[in-house]
Amino acid sequence: MAELYIGGAWREAVEGGRREIRCPADGSHVATVSEATAADAEAAILAARQAFDAGDWPATTARERGALLSRVADLLERDAKDFARAESLDTGKRLVESEYDVADVVACFRYYGGIAGTDAGRVVDTGRADAISRVVREPVGVCGLITPWNYPLLQASWKVAPALAAGNAIVLKPSELTPSTAILLMRVLEEAGLPAGVANLVLGAGPAAGAPLAEHEAVDLVSFTGGLATGRRIMAAAAATVKKVALELGGKNPNVVFADADLPTAVDFALTAVFLHSGQVCSAGARLVVQDDAHDAVVDEIVRRASRIRLGGPFDVDAETGPLISAAHRDKVAAYVDTGVAEGAVLRCGGKPPSDPDLAAGFYYLPTVLDECTQQMTVVHEESFGPVLTVERFGDEDDAVRIANDTTYGLAGAVWTSDAGRAQRVAGRLRHGTVWINDFHPYVPQAEWGGYGRSGIGRELGPSGLDEYRETKHVWHNIDPKPQYWFHA
Ligand code: NAD
Repeated sequence: MAELYIGGAWREAVEGGRREIRCPADGSHVATVSEATAADAEAAILAARQAFDAGDWPATTARERGALLSRVADLLERDAKDFARAESLDTGKRLVESEYDVADVVACFRYYGGIAGTDAGRVVDTGRADAISRVVREPVGVCGLITPWNYPLLQASWKVAPALAAGNAIVLKPSELTPSTAILLMRVLEEAGLPAGVANLVLGAGPAAGAPLAEHEAVDLVSFTGGLATGRRIMAAAAATVKKVALELGGKNPNVVFADADLPTAVDFALTAVFLHSGQVCSAGARLVVQDDAHDAVVDEIVRRASRIRLGGPFDVDAETGPLISAAHRDKVAAYVDTGVAEGAVLRCGGKPPSDPDLAAGFYYLPTVLDECTQQMTVVHEESFGPVLTVERFGDEDDAVRIANDTTYGLAGAVWTSDAGRAQRVAGRLRHGTVWINDFHPYVPQAEWGGYGRSGIGRELGPSGLDEYRETKHVWHNIDPKPQYWFHA
């Protein structure tokens, strides 16, 4: 079976490389898929270029493209079980979480299907009778889309849906660790009637299969979701050809709890905020910033409940969260915890892999709480991307805002308080792309998603998510041109 999708055909990698995918929950074999080289990536880029420059796709109406995306949403809904199962096997996440992800993906395609044709530009008053001025929206061209392993299908959809709605041709490069749902997505796009070459898929490691999407002169835009270090590399590589760049990078997201909050609810959400998907969530509430007066009650209860979280594989219905993506990632998380303790944090629970022999073959790590943290600690500033909660104390409102904003990231944050005025004040002062009040994690495709600071460049979702994939052109049309004689005839 060939898994690269290039120019409307399923192909093997030119050099015939294959990669084995194993489930992080138990190391079991999931699939073996083609491993692309730079030559395959170039073939995909050129197929997209051809489809954009010489194909019919860019000339389709936005309404036609919207209808196609709605068909894609229908097919995703039809195949939801297959998508969810494949996602869980690749990532190790609980099946129920994958099912939620697929539902969100359907909503994303429906949203962009719906708004594709709603903004045709505008006519501008020229102040003259002999000229017409129009501002129109056009696709950017060929878009390289590079995505991570934590929400493989969701992250791909946040790029694929608006890029296609805008009329671009795309090359998708998912994480080499989690390719399965990207393959299924291409099959669905094919079935929905997308013309050959408009969507292409390359699988494989970042430096070989992904880097060409940032470097190649035939790519007009590169959109990347992943880690900060890779984002920097992609931005630098894209500079040579002055590509448009969209980056969704990490976060080190504060969850601010005032003593006047509904504390049992705040505790409950704080657990989900950081331990959902074992903390492998860009918007994870990894920093609990709690008011002195509430510290003991809140942290004691979080520790009590965190210590009881049940770990298990995707199909274990009693499991509350799953494994980390790889042994290397688990080592990285463990190193952050060790460094935190060495720098003075108090380990309240976790801090090691579970001892349960049934979990020994998976990459599990116990939910961990590091108390009495300070802003100087590495684990407070850098993204561990694991089930690790750091706890910082604050005194008053100014203090809370200062601590919560003391991050080079700025993806998301939350504030918990029963004082409505304080809630709005603090939300207004937090320098984060999404701020939740008395909540954590919800999002809707209608509202933008993206970070302040080093969390990224540009926005996904919402109307501006579509704008990331469109050029805005001003068309001035003089409808009665006459000589002007600025100079003597
Ligand atoms: P990563 O940066 O290692 O990899 C992301 C993707 O980039 C993968 O497809 C990888 O193969 C590719 N890649 C790696 N090196 C490359 C190169 N030189 N050129 C081109 N492509 C390259 O990230 P990851 O470990 O897969 O994902 C975890 C990170 O993603 C975390 O930091 C997380 O915060 C971030 N993330 C952010 C958001 C968001 O919305 N802001 C969402 C999900 C994940």
